[in-house]
Amino acid sequence: MEKRDYYEILGVDKKATASEIKKAYRTLVKKYHPDVNKNSDAEEKFKEIQEAYEILSDESKRSAYDQYGHAGTAGFNPGSTNGYSDFSGAPFDMGDIFNSFFGGAGSDFGFNFGSQRGPRQDIGSDIRYRIRISFEEAMKGGEFKIKVKREERCEKCNGTGSKSGRKKECPVCKGTGQQQQVRRTIFGQMAVMSSCQNCGGTGEIVEEPCAKCGGSGVVNIEESITVKVPAGAYDGMTLRFRGGGNAGRNGGSVGDLYIEVEVESSSIFERRGNDIYSEVSIPVYKAVLGDTVSIKTVSEDVKLKIPKGTQPGTIFRLRLKGAPILNSEKGRGDHYVRININIPTKLSKKEKEMWETLKEQQ
Ligand SMILES: [Zn+2]
Ligand SMILES: [Zn+2]
Repeated sequence: MEKRDYYEILGVDKKATASEIKKAYRTLVKKYHPDVNKNSDAEEKFKEIQEAYEILSDESKRSAYDQYGHAGTAGFNPGSTNGYSDFSGAPFDMGDIFNSFFGGAGSDFGFNFGSQRGPRQDIGSDIRYRIRISFEEAMKGGEFKIKVKREERCEKCNGTGSKSGRKKECPVCKGTGQQQQVRRTIFGQMAVMSSCQNCGGTGEIVEEPCAKCGGSGVVNIEESITVKVPAGAYDGMTLRFRGGGNAGRNGGSVGDLYIEVEVESSSIFERRGNDIYSEVSIPVYKAVLGDTVSIKTVSEDVKLKIPKGTQPGTIFRLRLKGAPILNSEKGRGDHYVRININIPTKLSKKEKEMWETLKEQQ
């Protein structure tokens, strides 16, 4: 999905001052906050606005965005282990998908009639991992260690795959790096040029393969990395570590590492957007007479005053006691607690008498 321009989202000019941006953000947040705006797309819009504001309200992020567009902001996530991670709900734009399916810069897919000159650089492929964390961990955020297997550039041959550094002409494509193939297509038979499989399109193969990597230029490693999960992480969220993927070939850049966060459900809390829902059961006398009840929230226990005559099913809102809002310093959703009333099933003799007395008074 194409990302919208951040200035457009906030409805401000590219030359807008910091206070104009802040003002526009506040107005929009009031309008699209999911608590206020019940339109189905409000939450999406709300997130979009927050993302735009996060970038445009920060001078260095804004300047990177001005220069490079969305690509310039992808690496921001202060405090991450390597400074390269960022997170967003949908990092898989078409470009990424295309690259991972079709080998990145190499255009050996489809009808490539043009000829390529010079060695082909292959972007390293992306790696995808998944981590599973508890509901509580997602609320607090934290660091998680995982082991990642990936291809790293061979140090011994500096990624060339060659022991001596010398190369010779590829016997299959005779140095052109391309092979002609006849393919059946819906248009009939077509001659299609594709990259030579033997030399990977470079036209050359190494004279003597590197002993360490066997000529591939990459070695398989397993490393332990620390994944920083932000407070408020939601199920299915993807964290991106730029440059954490497989090494490229022939000097091509390194792929990315994507980590999908799986959040276990909680037996106490239910999350909807940034709001948290729970239930509490109170004795009937507390509902009748009113009392203070301790409510467990995702951040702390909160004392809630129950007014006298509280009916079963009543919902109370605990403002700002919900899930932490991603990318926001102190923002949180709300906590909604539904009151259940315990009707006693076993009564002592004395209790029974008291209920009988109540009954007589009706
Ligand atoms: Zn070849
Ligand atoms: Zn090597």
